[in-house]
Amino acid sequence: MSAPLLQVNGLKVAYGHIEAVKGIDLELHEGQITTLVGANGAGKSTTLLALSGLVKKAAGRVTLDGKDLTKMAPHKIVSSGVVQVAEGRATLTTLTVRENLELGAYTRRDRDSRARDLDYVYGLFPVLKERAGGLAGNLSGGEQQMLAIGRALMAKPRVLLLDEPSMGLAPIIVQDIFRTLRNINQAGLTIFLVEQNVRQALKIADRAYVIETGSIVLSGTGRELLVNPKVQEAYLGS
Ligand code: ATP
Repeated sequence: MSAPLLQVNGLKVAYGHIEAVKGIDLELHEGQITTLVGANGAGKSTTLLALSGLVKKAAGRVTLDGKDLTKMAPHKIVSSGVVQVAEGRATLTTLTVRENLELGAYTRRDRDSRARDLDYVYGLFPVLKERAGGLAGNLSGGEQQMLAIGRALMAKPRVLLLDEPSMGLAPIIVQDIFRTLRNINQAGLTIFLVEQNVRQALKIADRAYVIETGSIVLSGTGRELLVNPKVQEAYLGS
C-alpha cells in the first residue's frame, strides 16, 4: 500500500493530570474513509482537536504528505488541507446559508474555483441552494449539519475531519449524511470520521480504529471490525 496521506505517531494529550490520549498511532490513506470509534469519553474528540491544533499535544507527531503539522497553528493546518467540520449547531445562525459557505473559503484567493466549489456544495445539498439567502438559524438540525460539512468543503480540504456528524439527528437524516460522506469520498476526498454510532461508521469505513480510555485497542477494515465478536459485544449490542 502507498504511504499514508496523514500519519499520527505516538500522540499524547493530557488535560492537567488526566491523560485523555495515551500515545496513539493512526494512518489515513488517500481516498479512504477512516473511522475512529469508541464510547463516551474514550478520547475521540480530543484526538481530532489535536489534529486540528486546537489542544496541545503532550507528545507525538502528525504529518500530512510528509509535511510536519505537529506544532502548526490551527489556521495553518486548515490552509495545509486538514479541515474539521464544525459541530452542526455551530453554524453562524445570524448569517445566511450562502454567507456561511463563503466564510469556509475565507483563506482562499482563487475566486473562480471558489464559485465552482459553491456549485459542488449546492449539488451535494440542494436544500442549501434553495435556502441560500435564508438565515442559517432557520435550518433544521440535519440541514445545519449539511451546512457545516459544506462550509468545511469550501476550504478545499485534502483531509476532512468530522466529530460525530450523526449526533442528535433522526435515523433517516443520519442515513442521508452518511450517504453524502460516501459521495464526497468517492469524488476523491480523504475522510476521518469520529463516531459513537459504531455500526454506521464501520459500514462506510475502509479502515477503522477502536479507542478505549485513550488507547487504540483494535484496528482493521470496517468490515473486519463489524464482524469482530469483541466489537459486536461491546459496541453493537449483539
Ligand atoms: P465524547 O463522545 O463524549 O466527546 P470522546 O471519546 O470524544 O467522548 P473526549 O471528549 O476526547 O472523549 O474525552 C476524553 C477524556 O478527556 C475524558 O475523560 C474527558 O472527561 C476528558 N476531557 C475532555 N475534555 C476535557 C477538558 N477540556 N478538560 C478536562 N478533561 C477533559
